[in-house]
Amino acid sequence: MPKTHQTKTLIIGAGPAGYTAAVYAARANLAPIVVQGIQPGGQLMITTDVENWPGEVSILGPNLMEKMQAQAEHAGARMFFDVISEVDFSQRPFVCKSDGGDSFVADTVIIATGAQAKWLGIPSETAYLGYGVSGCAVCDGAFFKGKSVVVIGGGNTAVEDALYLTNHAAKVTVVHRREKFRAEKVMQDRLFRNPRIDVLWDTVVSEIRGEQNPKRVTEVLTTNVRTGNESILPCDGVFVAIGHAPATSVFAGHVQMDADGYIVTKPDSTATNVPGVFAAGDVRDKVYRQAVTAAGMGCMAALEAEKFIAAQEDIHNITDLEGPEQAMVSAWD
Ligand code: NDP
Repeated sequence: MPKTHQTKTLIIGAGPAGYTAAVYAARANLAPIVVQGIQPGGQLMITTDVENWPGEVSILGPNLMEKMQAQAEHAGARMFFDVISEVDFSQRPFVCKSDGGDSFVADTVIIATGAQAKWLGIPSETAYLGYGVSGCAVCDGAFFKGKSVVVIGGGNTAVEDALYLTNHAAKVTVVHRREKFRAEKVMQDRLFRNPRIDVLWDTVVSEIRGEQNPKRVTEVLTTNVRTGNESILPCDGVFVAIGHAPATSVFAGHVQMDADGYIVTKPDSTATNVPGVFAAGDVRDKVYRQAVTAAGMGCMAALEAEKFIAAQEDIHNITDLEGPEQAMVSAWD
């Protein structure tokens, strides 16, 4: 039976941004509702050890997200395992409908649906994900101290990842499907100057190979797309850096987005172009993409939602005043 739920703050998405927003919104008495989406916990659910979350020397990604959800619920946030499939930001309060048929009526909305790394789509990539295959150099680079790693891609992320990985790995090979990078020139120059980085042009990784016990990557099979020649490249890790896709299709036409589909927010703020709708985390961040930065933005979004609601209530209180009180307020204006 479809139901209608009312809240001061609806949070869409349940990664670090969504859960942090939920903690802050609950503590500000906004009685937040979190609609968690298809994969509660977000990208951290498919990572193994997380060693860059403050206060945790090492924690499994899924455990960290379990703790975040528990903390948000403890603070008073209500969780719905459902997917928002329709939004209407043209009326107030906002109305969002879910796949489950429920309606969520909210004074403010925090979009925290995240982004997903794009993957090559080959079976061996899935088989070794978390066992040598990674989509985040900053998260996993430290596991490859003194080792050889491959970075796949030719954009800013791939070049930045390759440079970052030289802090840990002894050898980094960038495998790119074309004969030139699309990354910024200054980044490319830095990469070409680095003696620890090699580039394989016009080349794709067609298979990732490894051992089962313990499970680990040992080499990749590469194919030159011009000649069709295959080669084996020994390596310990494979970083796939072929772009990210923000999960924003449901918001298209409802909030402003950039050409890549990321939600645009005001400088130093999580406010979108729709007053009362905020965006936090990877859904609006193509530069840092870290759990801790997403969480920071979730905090900002909840604080901004609280301020927005307080300002709206002030306006209503002023409008509701009559006689001498209204005259006083008008005089202050
Ligand atoms: P991009 O879309 O810019 O680049 C993706 C790269 O991956 C391209 O070189 C592309 O090749 C390659 N690629 C795509 N699909 C495949 C595939 N199936 N197999 C092999 N290679 C593939 O993504 P990025 O993540 O690098 O950057 C996204 C956005 O974020 C950009 O706007 C970028 O500038 C920005 N960014 C900014 C940063 C910063 O300011 N510090 C840091 C990181 C990103 P091809 O070139 O042939 O299409």
